[in-house]
Amino acid sequence: MNILVLGAGQLARMMSLSSTHLDIKVLAYDVGSQTVINPVTFATTPESLQQAIDNADAITAEFEHIPHDVLALCEQSGKFYPGAEAIATGGDRAKEKALLDKTSVPCAPFKIITDKAHFLTAIDELGMPLVVKTCQAGYDGKGQWRVKSESEIDNTWAEMSEFLQASTEAQPHSIVAEKMIPFDREVSIIGVRAKNGECKIYPLTENQHTNGVLTLSIAGKEKANIQAQAEDAFAKLANALDYVGVLAIEFFDVEGQLLVNEIAPRVHNSGHWSQQGAHVSQFENHIRAVAGLPIGDTSLLRPTAMINVLGQSHIPSQVLAVSGTTSHWYGKDAKPGRKMGHINVSADSLHKLGEALAELADILPEADYPGVMETAQQLI
Ligand code: ATP
Ligand code: MG
Ligand code: MG
Repeated sequence: MNILVLGAGQLARMMSLSSTHLDIKVLAYDVGSQTVINPVTFATTPESLQQAIDNADAITAEFEHIPHDVLALCEQSGKFYPGAEAIATGGDRAKEKALLDKTSVPCAPFKIITDKAHFLTAIDELGMPLVVKTCQAGYDGKGQWRVKSESEIDNTWAEMSEFLQASTEAQPHSIVAEKMIPFDREVSIIGVRAKNGECKIYPLTENQHTNGVLTLSIAGKEKANIQAQAEDAFAKLANALDYVGVLAIEFFDVEGQLLVNEIAPRVHNSGHWSQQGAHVSQFENHIRAVAGLPIGDTSLLRPTAMINVLGQSHIPSQVLAVSGTTSHWYGKDAKPGRKMGHINVSADSLHKLGEALAELADILPEADYPGVMETAQQLI
């Protein structure tokens, strides 16, 4: 079976690596260079996008900011999962908020902005501090502003209006202002929905971000009532989209109540732990779902942490000497802050996971790998 992935980064690569053993071949379409490549070897193939679509048994995506004409072409084929609407919803915060409203899934109070009057009303009604985000672009905290006081309003508006002015009829731009949520922590749920509507959901992951980028995730700490809230949101959103594949939902935990931050219609960085920590990883399960195969067991094997490797040219090989640890390298050119790989570490208990993280913290400099020692100490 052949699967075409829109997007040719590490997520397509890990989908490929996780499904070779199922006799599934994955090719990836690089939207930037408009070429079809093997996402593991990076070898280009001579196929055009249309030929790759014709040759594929199923088509999926590894990111949500995909040009509308490419989405339309894939949709026409009748074999695109989770499909153009789900991808477009995840790629547009205005559509995403409308879906949350429709399904009555709680999120931060927000206002959609297309002109300065809207912005001033949002400041009046929501109050400062505000988090302001471009609706149709942005990842890893890019395309965002924080507005904390009167003095920041004009400068922020100048930058916001640049984005709004780049709006076209085919791809209209808008901005969302959200109340800044004083959350206790951030968590995410990753689940998979099959073509027959069956859902399987991984245990909730607790996530730490540094400057808007995920740096560390832990699976295996969760309490039943928080897991139940997240599963409820997953079922409502996945069913409303008639979703097929892996869907990720990020939340703020505010005194035990979950508010949705955003959804990602794809495999997600906060689910990378599942490669070692679950029976079937998010990558294999996504491929199984879009290929129409039975979806696999999502239960936790052992508590597992994932540490992102950002901007480094390699992963220190000594990490492999720490019991329960393995590393994943994406084969990309190093750039400051770029996601280059990740480290997964599993242990039989949270206490032992803390001990393993403490060993890793001795190898990984705090400046490059923030929060590892602090997390270790909390778990021990
Ligand atoms: P991703 O790489 O996860 O797609 P993104 O660029 O889409 O990131 P968000 O997840 O919306 O951005 O925001 C990045 C981070 O900024 C969040 O993980 C959270 O730490 C912080 N943040 C975003 N919105 C709010 C909010 N309303 N209140 C408080 N913090 C927020
Ligand atoms: Mg996002
Ligand atoms: Mg996010």
